[in-house]
Amino acid sequence: MSQNRLPPPESEACLFRLRSSTQKGGTLIAEDVTDHATHERRICDPDGYRPPFCPRCGKRLHVHDYRERVLRAEPSKPVTTIRRFECVSCAAIWQILPLFISRHLWRTWNVVRRALMPDHKSSSPSEPQHWPKVPQRTVRRWRTRWLRPALSLIQILAASGQATWATLATQLLPEATCADLVAAYAREHLGQPLAGLAALLFRLQPKVRLM
Ligand SMILES: [Zn+2]
Repeated sequence: MSQNRLPPPESEACLFRLRSSTQKGGTLIAEDVTDHATHERRICDPDGYRPPFCPRCGKRLHVHDYRERVLRAEPSKPVTTIRRFECVSCAAIWQILPLFISRHLWRTWNVVRRALMPDHKSSSPSEPQHWPKVPQRTVRRWRTRWLRPALSLIQILAASGQATWATLATQLLPEATCADLVAAYAREHLGQPLAGLAALLFRLQPKVRLM
């Protein structure tokens, strides 16, 4: 593994950039929140997750509500809390997800990573020993996506206008899979490769998903 790997991408661009005026809220990913402990601290602080302005219109955001989010197959934390903010001006509602929770899979990326990459070493020494099992049919579904061609995702990186991601795209063959893409990302970037790459793709093109 290279000693010169880069730190995870900046989260600022995701949370703070203005979104399309037709987008009436949605999800923002706090890319600097990588574990449950940090998430708990941010949730307890009323301003912990508050974006500086509404990504749709630029006005102030108020806390809208808290929502429970089920995390299946999580060893010690089957439910967590997610905060939503409402814009005082345009009424858009934004939920803030920490990096380590998958947007679509009802699990943390750690659970997905353990199912798809059982030999991948954990980035956290404090990870529990015993994990609930993920149903085999779910793992099969994930594996199908994991091994699908990643060409459309690679093209998004190539067209991002950012040299780091364009370079990453050039390292991959046209027939590369999502697994190959995650492996290439992991060789050059610190942190959680699945979560980091999923957040990056969401930032570049919110309509696509890694998994
Ligand atoms: Zn607004």
